[in-house]
Amino acid sequence: MTTETPAPRHETDVTSGPGAVGAAVAAAREAQPWWAGIGFAGRKKALDAWRVLILRRADELVDVIRAETGKTADDARLEVILVADHLRWAAAHAGKVLGRRRVPSGLLMFNQSATVEYRPLGVVGVIGPWNYPAFIPIGPVSAALAAGNTVVLKPSELTPAVGQWLADTLAEAVDGPRVLRVVTGSGETGAALCRAAVDKISFTGSSATGRRVMAACAENLTPVVIEGGGKDAMIVAADADLDAAADAAVWAAMSNAGQTCVGLERVYVVSEVADRFLRLVGDRAAALRTGDRPDADLGPIVLPRQLEIIKAHVRDAVARGARVVLGGTESFTPPYVAPIVLADVPEDSVALTEETFGPVLVVNRVTCVDEAVDQVNASAYGLGASVYTGDRSQGRRIAGRLRAGMVSVNAVIAFAGIPALPFGGVGDSGFGRVHGPDGLREFTRTQAVTSQRFRPLMQPNSFGRAPGTMQTLVRMMRALYGR
Ligand code: NDP
Repeated sequence: MTTETPAPRHETDVTSGPGAVGAAVAAAREAQPWWAGIGFAGRKKALDAWRVLILRRADELVDVIRAETGKTADDARLEVILVADHLRWAAAHAGKVLGRRRVPSGLLMFNQSATVEYRPLGVVGVIGPWNYPAFIPIGPVSAALAAGNTVVLKPSELTPAVGQWLADTLAEAVDGPRVLRVVTGSGETGAALCRAAVDKISFTGSSATGRRVMAACAENLTPVVIEGGGKDAMIVAADADLDAAADAAVWAAMSNAGQTCVGLERVYVVSEVADRFLRLVGDRAAALRTGDRPDADLGPIVLPRQLEIIKAHVRDAVARGARVVLGGTESFTPPYVAPIVLADVPEDSVALTEETFGPVLVVNRVTCVDEAVDQVNASAYGLGASVYTGDRSQGRRIAGRLRAGMVSVNAVIAFAGIPALPFGGVGDSGFGRVHGPDGLREFTRTQAVTSQRFRPLMQPNSFGRAPGTMQTLVRMMRALYGR
């Protein structure tokens, strides 16, 4: 049943704690050779069966997500849709992306056959956040599993049941040892996983925790993927379809009550259309329903301490002269925050320099698109961005100038719904990629193999080579490539 919006439940049903990490990693390591051994086809069959089971039980997953986060039914359904699509893509493409392929061996080494393939690392640790407790972990989990690794998942302490539900349904769909294990508990459990000598850690969460994760992983030289926070921006050019831009801006800023890493927090709109754009944004945001009601568009702020951060950002902006277009400090009825729209916010206020992670949208006017590009790129973060313009080729050119891992032109967050596209950021937003071919390769070690087809006419790699061999080769290189 998914009609009422349940309040977020913060107590955990299962707490395994840091002490359980060693056993989980050991069990995952034991299962890994079997999982790698069934090959791409065997893993595709298993992951497809898991996806089918997840979709059959979609309502149940929606309920588990809502019980732990309180998010609206539609926000939870979005997660289920994305989980299924990303799982399907990883299972279907792993063989093609990671399997052995021939590469040209070149003139010098013509007698060799050259191949490259991507082998599993072993056991991958995945540390996930609470804001999209199913969709976010499924990116690294699906890629790591499809590549032949086994996984130990540490969900946020706020959402352990979602992680456990995913692991249990996989175990139900697939005969054999568990290839996805869950360890629950607070940050200490995550820290223990970083120190458990797993073969890679995929971390998604705040940039501050990302730094701690990286420091802990450094002790064992464990490689990491860091998917950190963001301060995503939209550029609205003078020729943009303002209705479409305003509609997208409000959805990207307010859905999931603004608790989205690639949620929209800043808009830079060209002056000549700024007033009209602001009116459209204000009207749309004002029509949204917030709270504990079945038809709500915005559910609760999940992390209680986040309420203070959001409030501090709004207060600081207003104290520094920002114009309040909608809402303000009266928008707070904990754990809910109704939409807030601010305009003309000074660029050095925390509402523009730090991640707000709530339903607050800042709209600042700029004289031209070039100024907008400079403002977008001034952030320490560089996760997603969007550009609205009537000229798509100009949109692509602007996208190319943005310091962001992902950009949507005349759309928002479209990249997250395309499983073939790599997802990740630069700067304080982290490094490494999940999703797409890059996301699959992230959880592998590259292996180059050559195999001699016939004895070479000239053998440079031998002390027994004929005199003059190297001089002949230099002459050959000059003739071929020296002009
Ligand atoms: P946190 O950084 O607080 O936590 C993320 C995960 O790390 C949780 O499972 C947490 O456990 C765990 N953790 C905490 N301390 C440690 C530690 N010392 N060592 C290892 N693990 C630890 O982030 P939130 O859960 O609050 O998520 C919100 C943040 O995530 C936002 O900044 C958001 O932008 C970002 N995010 C980024 C995404 C991206 O793809 N770039 C996607 C989604 C969110 P516990 O919760 O139990 O403390």
